Amino acid sequence: MAKRGQIAGYDGGKGIKIFCVCLAAFVFVSALALIFLGNFISSSQTQFFDYVVVIDAGHGGIDGGVVGKTSGVKESELNLKMAYLLKEEFETCGIKVVLTRTDENGLYGEATDGFKKRDMAKRKEIILDAKADMVISVHMNKFSSSSRSGPQVFFDQNSEAGQKLATRIQTSLNAFTGNSHAALKGDYYMLKCTTSPSVIVECGFLSNPYEEQQLLDETYRKKLARKIFEGALLFMSYSGIDSGDVV
Ligand SMILES: [Zn+2]
Repeated sequence: MAKRGQIAGYDGGKGIKIFCVCLAAFVFVSALALIFLGNFISSSQTQFFDYVVVIDAGHGGIDGGVVGKTSGVKESELNLKMAYLLKEEFETCGIKVVLTRTDENGLYGEATDGFKKRDMAKRKEIILDAKADMVISVHMNKFSSSSRSGPQVFFDQNSEAGQKLATRIQTSLNAFTGNSHAALKGDYYMLKCTTSPSVIVECGFLSNPYEEQQLLDETYRKKLARKIFEGALLFMSYSGIDSGDVV
């Protein structure tokens, strides 16, 4: 109720004072948020602009890798398509990408004895020359049972950062495909080329006719590439990129 001499509904300016204090607090908090966000974006950009991701499309040339059960598609073809889709994802974010293989050819030179060893050595050379901060090697899987499905990510057991990266990517892929695979340790050459975090992403099973059809579909491959990228980006965002600390 209004006091004597006071207009009903008017509280002597108290409401205006509260409003002004709230407004000032809001402006202050907003300004802090903007400063924080600005710093976060600029530091992320600085870090990401320095970042080099090597994307390795497995196999190539006379080494076609796994063959699709029903379509006969070569793994090497799908790996290359996935590598380019991933490249696009990272580059959109301003991150430098180096591909080990840019076409259907292998990296072994002449297709003579010892070609596989030369091919792998060349990939390592490209990774080291690029001073890779991260390596993602792309493959397609196969298994004796055609029912096995889902992307599977591998890491080197001696790399804590590699395990963190693999887990981020596996989690991101699982959320998309509905699988519950855990990232796995793997004793593979491509995981040991550099001390930077390295993973092998087996995108799916070409021994599973349903998954083979999915992997043949450009739209599906784009979604897979996006999920791999999102996992990698989460790893980068929560890791001390320059310090080597991992979260
Ligand atoms: Zn392979």
